[in-house]
Amino acid sequence: MTEAVEATLRGPEAYSLARQAVEAMENASVWPTPLNFELWLQYLGDPEGALGREIERMLTAGEPFTEAAAEMLAAEYLPRGRLTEEIRDAGRVLDRELSSVSEAISRAHKAQSDYGRTLEGAAGSLESADGAPQLRAIVSGLSDATQKVQRDNEALEKKLELSTREIARLSEHLEQVRRDSMTDALTSLANRKAFDEELESACQDALSGGGRLSLAVLDIDHFKRFNDTWGHQTGDQVLRYVASVLGKTARAPRLAARYGGEEFALIFPGETLPEVEAALEGIRKEIGSRSLRRRSTNDDLGAVTVSIGFAHCRGGENATSLLGRADAALYASKRSGRNRVTCADWLDDAAA
Ligand code: C2E
Repeated sequence: MTEAVEATLRGPEAYSLARQAVEAMENASVWPTPLNFELWLQYLGDPEGALGREIERMLTAGEPFTEAAAEMLAAEYLPRGRLTEEIRDAGRVLDRELSSVSEAISRAHKAQSDYGRTLEGAAGSLESADGAPQLRAIVSGLSDATQKVQRDNEALEKKLELSTREIARLSEHLEQVRRDSMTDALTSLANRKAFDEELESACQDALSGGGRLSLAVLDIDHFKRFNDTWGHQTGDQVLRYVASVLGKTARAPRLAARYGGEEFALIFPGETLPEVEAALEGIRKEIGSRSLRRRSTNDDLGAVTVSIGFAHCRGGENATSLLGRADAALYASKRSGRNRVTCADWLDDAAA
């Protein structure tokens, strides 16, 4: 959420904006789920913003506002705001911890200086001490000062231990937030942002190390028809089903990501073209091998098929060009009947 909308939500317009969001969701037949509410607050609070324009476009085009669509919008437009907020909170906790550690260190420092002075004083007094009672008083003073310094040191150690624990907890939390910001919430695969970053770095590695790299894009056949016939909830489950097959096959260093609505992408570093082709054929066959059931009615949904296109990185090729060739291969798979795997190089060979 942008800071401007955040500020509105804590100002005089807050309840009116919240009511408008609920009303607008109802008018557009959108469920008032927490995520939708967040999206619509952002949309109405900043209709000219990127998210506002995208929702406006979807509404004008009559595109359904499914759970999957909401997740995609959130992944695209909300996480940065969430992340910023989390980072701001983390900064506040760190500030607090650092200032209390710094106070404890100053206290310990002062206690050490006082102790030093007490020792110096005791040394002077010892030289002029006369008799056992004076010596006893000096020793007792030293003992008190030593105990005080010990107590201060223990307090400092305890404070440092608590702060170390708090900072470790914070760092784990931030790591979780970072992982969430890279994950597609519906399918738990990497999201588009994570994919873009990974592809860019894989292309750089291939360029600098001369290693192999392949990229595949995969699209569920007739997904829109499926959604219209069986409803969006079932559509979302089909996305999860396809994602679960991809997740099993694409173990690191491979990476599977949800790239768009019903489109997925896979990165294959360090594999030969026949290896990549075999893996993709395996994925295609496995996805189509099961007849799915509609959970609410037990209706037979039949098998889901996917079309796949892939391209093997040419020396010096960048991510945009590789993606463009894999996309062209995907469309060749669609054009030639769907439920198949096409390699971009085969298209080039055919054109030559
Ligand atoms: P989910 O519904 O959360 O299910 C997670 C996993 O639990 C499934 O992984 C499967 O291992 C197991 N599971 C859940 N329900 C059943 C069941 O009725 N019978 C059996 N034998 N196992 C079950 P899996 O198979 O990889 O599926 C991942 C996701 O794909 C599912 O998440 C669901 O969203 C979707 N999915 C898979 N098969 C179907 C299906 O036949 N119909 C529908 N509507 N969705 C399916």
